[in-house]
Amino acid sequence: MDSCMPVRKYGYKNIYTCQKCGGQTVTIDIDEGVTPFMLRCRATGEEGDCDGMAQSCMYRVPANSPEPQWEWFTPRGFEYRELSPQMKEHVDKGGLVIRKKGRHEQDAPTGYYRDSHGSLRLASPSHPKR
Ligand SMILES: [Zn+2]
Repeated sequence: MDSCMPVRKYGYKNIYTCQKCGGQTVTIDIDEGVTPFMLRCRATGEEGDCDGMAQSCMYRVPANSPEPQWEWFTPRGFEYRELSPQMKEHVDKGGLVIRKKGRHEQDAPTGYYRDSHGSLRLASPSHPKR
């Protein structure tokens, strides 16, 4: 499967605006795939602080919008194996999964980070942590 790499469209930023608190959840796609139109509000940077639903701006993001705090990715390897059956089905259909940006790097040993494939990489100055 890996020998047939799809064209990746990572790097796309999106904003979900909450219909309850008006807060914005800024996301970025780090893999190619499908993201939902509605998302549980994460405007504070944490999931669950607001129970409102936020609506996608369909990638029409102003140039001066805030840095994304969340990222959409395709779970691979151990990340995929840890998913629930429903989530695996979602991913199998091309759906992306959301996670806090940078959180996946925290379980890596000092001097390393995990890339979007879940692989350990040696950290270098060309890969700023924040
Ligand atoms: Zn909200």
